[in-house]
Amino acid sequence: MTCPACIQSSERPHCGAYRFQCLECCARLVLSAYPSKPHAAGMLAAIERFPGNPGRARVLESVRLGLEKRRSATPRSNKA
Ligand SMILES: [Zn+2]
Repeated sequence: MTCPACIQSSERPHCGAYRFQCLECCARLVLSAYPSKPHAAGMLAAIERFPGNPGRARVLESVRLGLEKRRSATPRSNKA
């Protein structure tokens, strides 16, 4: 399940290695654009141009999960 780019980025989060055929890489790439929605949409469009991409629906689902995980991993200290 783990691709070389995923391993690389887990060791060096800012190395910028992505494989557009890998669902995790695609989700990571789109997540890296957040919270800029236009930027994220641009990433999705770029992913869709690659042959063998996991597909917009799966990437979006993975992004959604990633955002939830991110939200629960960083509890807000300030109550807004
Ligand atoms: Zn990957």
